Amino acid sequence: MKPPVFEYHAPGSTDEALALLGEHAWEAKILAGGQSLVPAMNFRLASPAILIDINGVDELSGIETAADGSLRIGAMTRQNVVESSDQVRAAAPLLHKAMPWIAHPQIRARGTLGGSIAHADPAAELPAVMLALGAEFHARGPSGERAIPADEFFFGLLMTALAPDEMLTAISIPAQAPRSGTAFVEFARRHGDYALAGVAVTLTLGSDGTCESAALGLLSVSEAPMLAVQAASALVGTAVELSDAEGAAELAAGEIDPTGDLHASADYRRHLVRVLVRRAVVEARAGIEDRG
Ligand SMILES: Cc1cc2nc3c(=O)[nH]c(=O)nc-3n(C[C@H](O)[C@H](O)[C@H](O)COP(=O)(O)OP(=O)(O)OC[C@H]3O[C@@H](n4cnc5c(N)ncnc54)[C@H](O)[C@@H]3O)c2cc1C
Repeated sequence: MKPPVFEYHAPGSTDEALALLGEHAWEAKILAGGQSLVPAMNFRLASPAILIDINGVDELSGIETAADGSLRIGAMTRQNVVESSDQVRAAAPLLHKAMPWIAHPQIRARGTLGGSIAHADPAAELPAVMLALGAEFHARGPSGERAIPADEFFFGLLMTALAPDEMLTAISIPAQAPRSGTAFVEFARRHGDYALAGVAVTLTLGSDGTCESAALGLLSVSEAPMLAVQAASALVGTAVELSDAEGAAELAAGEIDPTGDLHASADYRRHLVRVLVRRAVVEARAGIEDRG
């Protein structure tokens, strides 16, 4: 199908894009990689009267590493640039591991980091990864810039903390702490399909070898990407043995609120979370020992 009629604007700067958004907020949509928005428009699931194409806003792309090792990634940075970045591999191994699980190379060549986060699909990999990494999202709007922690950003199905006249400009990710391990695992019917369930894990050990902090981001198991808070808390203070991973997996399965659909029942998704959380926690813990 063809999209409904729309007015097209191609601003050359963030200020210009924000001025357009301020003028048209409720009837406008930002066009980033177009990999979710254009299909939604073609299916008439979205019908913005005005499209603000930010592909020509160069200042929104790029990856910077700060003195403390943290990353700042522009919202328009393409997913395949993130995937092949040595800076990302060094500072945020979890993000590096998760990238190949997003769709297919052709889609990652066009899709952007910010587009996936702003779209907030509960089945997408990046929102769950950002939750597990403790990322912060930078938004700009008429009243200036604000930073929104990932765990205050995702509200419900395709809903975020962004106001209609605000734009996501960049994503900050803390450098991975020493004695940390990560894992990303998901289950999809075919590689490249949206997953039936998935888990992003970060674990950090203290000097006594027990778990100092843990975060588990889950995808495809509730209305919004979510953190399994109880499962993560249960890991803290343990040696992260197999039995601890199993305990966390059981708690995570109790924290989710999956719906059944054509592809998987709610019970099957709960079963997947049990299996995937256990597997991811074991893999993340083993990764810490690998690095000595
Ligand atoms: C066949 C197919 C398979 C896919 N499979 C997967 C998959 O397995 N996993 C997965 O995670 N994704 C998948 N995707 C989606 C893909 O990752 C998209 O690239 C991503 O969801 C959206 O990024 P985009 O840059 O294309 O954003 P767009 O489609 O341009 O925009 C998406 C939404 O975000 C808003 N937006 C974009 N940028 C900003 C910004 N800077 N500030 C405010 N709002 C903004 C837009 O207005 C729109 O509402 C798939 C897509 C296709 C077509």
